[in-house]
Amino acid sequence: MPKLESLRFDNGFARLPETYYSRVCPTPVPDPYLVCHSPEALRLLDLDESEISRREMIETLAGNRLLPGMDAIAALYAGHQFGHYVPQLGDGRAMLLGEVKNAAGEGWEVQLKGAGRTPYSRGGDGRAVLRSSIREFLCSEAMHALGIPTTRALCIVGSDRPVYREDEETAALVTRLAPSFVRFGSFEVFYYRNQVEALRQLADYVLARYYPELAVRAEPYAEMLREVTRRTAELMAQWQAVGFSHGVMNTDNMSILGLTLDYGPFGFLDAFDPGFICNHSDSGGRYAFDQQPDVAAWNITKLAQALAPLLSVETASAAISDYPQQFGQAYLGRMAAKFGLAPGGETVPLMMDALQLLARNHVDYTIFFRRLCNFDCTAGAANAPLRDLFLDRAAFDAWAVRYAAALRGMNAVDAERSTAMRAVNPKYILRNHLAEVAIRRAADHRDYSEIARLHTLLAHPFDEQPELESYAAEPPDWAKKIEVSCSS
Ligand code: AMP
Ligand code: MG
Repeated sequence: MPKLESLRFDNGFARLPETYYSRVCPTPVPDPYLVCHSPEALRLLDLDESEISRREMIETLAGNRLLPGMDAIAALYAGHQFGHYVPQLGDGRAMLLGEVKNAAGEGWEVQLKGAGRTPYSRGGDGRAVLRSSIREFLCSEAMHALGIPTTRALCIVGSDRPVYREDEETAALVTRLAPSFVRFGSFEVFYYRNQVEALRQLADYVLARYYPELAVRAEPYAEMLREVTRRTAELMAQWQAVGFSHGVMNTDNMSILGLTLDYGPFGFLDAFDPGFICNHSDSGGRYAFDQQPDVAAWNITKLAQALAPLLSVETASAAISDYPQQFGQAYLGRMAAKFGLAPGGETVPLMMDALQLLARNHVDYTIFFRRLCNFDCTAGAANAPLRDLFLDRAAFDAWAVRYAAALRGMNAVDAERSTAMRAVNPKYILRNHLAEVAIRRAADHRDYSEIARLHTLLAHPFDEQPELESYAAEPPDWAKKIEVSCSS
């Protein structure tokens, strides 16, 4: 396995003209230490696991030294934040160090989040705090394990350097990996500046590197927009099905590759509440859980508008017109699988009625589906743990009769259905209170073992892990007090 020194860099983005970024230099932090790492993410770079604890590695991922071949840049982008266009955002604290080509031929961009000020920092300090870094690290890797497209997290490096938010906290850097961090907002900035050639060159770059099969088509820009639309629809279906709320779906946080990007005040549903708002700063609920598919659609219209100079307004709108149908179909398919039902027939009303029951009875979303995996069509005692989740038992019983009839109609074998359902209904998700325990131990006691435990647990979210059964439970009462906002 290669060592750190033998990483091969191939910095595609840095070869673009400086229109798209600024060359930067990470600001060193004192006495960095490793907080946690993801062995799976290390393998993406073909790195031997022992490399992560080497001093050289920690210093590099703290931004204290660069390796030969690294070329640090901060990308320029703009974006619609809470519906309003902000003409210049950009990497205010993230720095792209370079792109590593692994043995499999994959390119992985290596980015430090929290590496210090850049020309796009505006009033910010360019830093990230340990608390939010732990959340991003754990959630990126958990999403990947759930099969949801996402940027990855290699590790967190901490430093005792103070960082001031509402309170004094300490600094941390997350090393993120992705094929590309280009966002919808990366295109918007050139559209609003009327820089059509810059827009075209960026689109050509993304097409050539990430959508090569589309680059050769008759209308490559329209094809790219169509594909981004399709991927975004698929991503939204996955978020909704698993109960993930992003919290800040601004167009600068929307990936051109359809990845989950920029973890901030995200949250997973506990009790099912369609209007769940995970971001404490989102008082209007613009990014509430049930708004996400529509917000994504709105964001796609902003991308289409930004690309319109390259392909005409009509072609752009045609390219995104399938979104509602693509989302609908993807969502229906994923939800039907969660219920163990085949799409069609009674499936949609059964699912909608179940979701309504969950909302009315404040039933935990993840626990419901996991217990549903054991549903017994003969309505035996095996259904008691599921039934116990509902205050309104009569309403549940009435639904269960219809559900059992639908399952019998499919002639499915209980055991087979149960196995298939278990593969799509996770037992373990990154609930806020679980992350909070790990954060408290790390911040108050320098004890990083809970982060590692959660990381390992969430790497296998669909497996029974009896020794960690309590991690699948509903949140304790104190969890209600957790507030997550944009401050990170
Ligand atoms: P976010 O809400 O993390 O997606 O960030 C929105 C914008 O604010 C991006 O341009 C970030 O780079 C920038 N930003 C967020 N936090 C900081 C910070 N502490 N220092 C500088 N820029 C920041
Ligand atoms: Mg962002």
